[in-house]
Parts: sequence; structure tokens; C-alpha cells
Amino acid sequence: MPHCPDCDSERTVKNGHIQTGKQRYLCRNCGRQFVKNPTNKVIDTPTRELIDWLLLERIPMAGIAGAVQVSEQWLQDYVTRLCQR
Ligand SMILES: [Zn+2]
Repeated sequence: MPHCPDCDSERTVKNGHIQTGKQRYLCRNCGRQFVKNPTNKVIDTPTRELIDWLLLERIPMAGIAGAVQVSEQWLQDYVTRLCQR
């Protein structure tokens, strides 16, 4: 099991999957849910389409970032690029 990114505890358990099919984990020490290496990954087209749809639904960016496991910074940059099209 991966260590918790927040508290570095080894007490992590599998906790279902996110929409993109990646394994999600739950830290039993601090309660944090996380996905292995969610940042700096290439965001694939289905995920981008999901993000586009969530943005249209006026879901708050923090909610989208949590739902599709991208960083809020990445999402902010993505929205900025969309607006420049
Ligand atoms: Zn933790």
C-alpha cells in the first residue's frame, strides 16, 4: 500500500475507484482519501471532456479537482487556456 501523502502513514486501505478508473486509497490515520501520483500526470481526453462538462454545470473548481483528481493549479491553468481560445 502507498503511504499517505499528508501524514506518511502506512495505514492505508483501498477505497474504491475514481471516475477515471484509478485506484483510490483511504488513510486510516488521518482520514485523507488520495490517488497514487494524482499530480503531474497527463490528463487524458475523457477526463478533459468530463472537466469541460463539470465546468458547464458550474461546479466549483475545488469540487472538480477533487472529483477527477487533478490539482487545482492544473485546473486553473486549463480554464485559463480555454478562455484564451
Ligand atoms: Zn494520513
